[in-house]
Amino acid sequence: MTGATPGVPPSSGGAEEDFGTFPPGGVRTGMGFDAHRFADSGSDRPCALACLQWPGVGLEGDSDGDVVAHAVVDAVLSAALIGDIGSLVGVGKGSLGSGASGSDILRRCVDAVSSRGLRIESVSAVIIGNRPKVGPRRVEAQTAMSQAVGCPVSLTATTTDAMGFTGRGEGVAAMATAVVRDMR
Ligand SMILES: [Zn+2]
Repeated sequence: MTGATPGVPPSSGGAEEDFGTFPPGGVRTGMGFDAHRFADSGSDRPCALACLQWPGVGLEGDSDGDVVAHAVVDAVLSAALIGDIGSLVGVGKGSLGSGASGSDILRRCVDAVSSRGLRIESVSAVIIGNRPKVGPRRVEAQTAMSQAVGCPVSLTATTTDAMGFTGRGEGVAAMATAVVRDMR
């Protein structure tokens, strides 16, 4: 897209957009992706991931950098045909998302969906990165995410066999899918 600002999703900007109409009584799936880089080593930035705090240096971003929460928000909003995280909370300092936690943004997302008579039925997400080690706290993370979203959330985690930016330990990525149903 021409004229796009680096780092700003092309669909963001707050303009009214036509994403189509949710099929009455229907079900839609959506998918989301996000990635953030780690803050410099030595930074005291806390590590927020999947609505939990983890040991070690955190992920950069105007928000708390919770890539799992952000990918889930995009998946849910995509399924619901109501835009993406940029159109929900804006981008950059001074936006609604600035300083917001992953669960803050998820709550806002759930409100946006339920106010349209839609319900989030299920969410799955995968965390891609070398650290933090998710396995020992996977169930705890699923519980925290499920409470934030209000439906069962399943979480998996993987590395990329030392390939790419996550494999080099430069950051963490997440992908998510969501299923949304029209309850009107
Ligand atoms: Zn993000």
